[in-house]
Amino acid sequence: MTSISKLPVDIVNPYESMLERFNIAADILGLDPEKRKRLSRPAKQIILNFSIIMDSGEERNFEGYRVIHSTVLGPSKGGIRFDKDVNLDEVKALAAWMTWKSAVVGLPFGGAKGGIICSPKTMSKTELEKLTRAYTKALIDTFGPNKDVPAPDMGTGADEMGWLMDEYSQVHGKKIYAVVTGKHLDSGGSLGRTEATGRGVSIVILLALKKLSMRPEGTTVAIQGFGNVGMHSALFLFEKGLKIIAVSDIYETLYNSNGFNIHHLIAYSKKNNNSLKGYPDATPIENSQLITLEVDVLIPAAKEDVITAGNVNDVKAKLIVEGANGPTSADADEVIQQKGILVVPDILANAGGVTVSYFEWLQNQLDETWDVEKVNRMLEEILDKSFAEVFDASEKYKVPMRIAAYVIAVHRVDLAQQNK
Ligand code: GLU
Repeated sequence: MTSISKLPVDIVNPYESMLERFNIAADILGLDPEKRKRLSRPAKQIILNFSIIMDSGEERNFEGYRVIHSTVLGPSKGGIRFDKDVNLDEVKALAAWMTWKSAVVGLPFGGAKGGIICSPKTMSKTELEKLTRAYTKALIDTFGPNKDVPAPDMGTGADEMGWLMDEYSQVHGKKIYAVVTGKHLDSGGSLGRTEATGRGVSIVILLALKKLSMRPEGTTVAIQGFGNVGMHSALFLFEKGLKIIAVSDIYETLYNSNGFNIHHLIAYSKKNNNSLKGYPDATPIENSQLITLEVDVLIPAAKEDVITAGNVNDVKAKLIVEGANGPTSADADEVIQQKGILVVPDILANAGGVTVSYFEWLQNQLDETWDVEKVNRMLEEILDKSFAEVFDASEKYKVPMRIAAYVIAVHRVDLAQQNK
């Protein structure tokens, strides 16, 4: 079994992929070269070097990043990634995508992203806490409820966000909940936040199926990644009657032509140390096969650049919905278009997470607690409206939904910048 990071995909740079799509949108909007630079380049890039004492008593040094891409529409917003492959170009791309993502769904946020090069699965809770606190200390003047508001991303979750909030609050001498989102409920988190990205993915899939005149019942799905996004997408789609016939995590890729019972699959993974390995009632397949399976819907919900020029010719799905950020590299765009595959791009498809982050931030600022029905209803309203806007723009400009989403987002940021 091959892990995703070892796949023989072409070497692609996610920041370049972002720029390529940005430039097509900028052509449509008629933006001059100076404006393009101002809108596309990150406002600030911070590279950190800090050390913590590991459980063994040894000192270990880490490199971390925080890239603020834009604060034009509001405080910069975006997650923190703990992963061994984190690098500055990746964080730059992810930060820019946060700007476009917030803009496309109409949130009053700019974009940012952070990361630390580390292998969180091999670290103890104590080490992860020290790492998060050291990173927060190093960025104490960068973060702030009205400046830069982090959130979870790959390799981080509510624990890390709680430590970050606590560290930030200690320095300021009072609890400041709104400095970070994605927290546990008892630390000022919002109902519905954990499952928000997956819920959003399932909402846009149902909208896209309608456009393709396809019924949800029996529609076949393959999901790459069974972390927070993949797992919750699977759950909501299963409940709507779609048939999930392939799933993968970093350990295993499973196939079952009859469709998985997602409740069983989640329970198994949780009991099995968050691994799908050994799940009965399924055929293990090669990870690289998942992308090219005969399915109606493909959901890449793991990492960047998994659909590339190297495998796009073999993709058979009618609909790709990007649960991950940047899973399709720009060099695959042309073939996707020729094949007539509908792609709901990352900056729309996975925007459910940051949308409910916005609700969490608002609740913290207003000292309110919203019930989950309100959170879910407002999320659905925002995604319905944004999906319709992007779909209509794609028809108006005769471009794929991805470019349409960039056109809307870049235009909004550009307008706000002019009015500043
Ligand atoms: N990391 C998530 C994303 O990529 C959530 C960001 C947030 O909630 O600020 O969209």
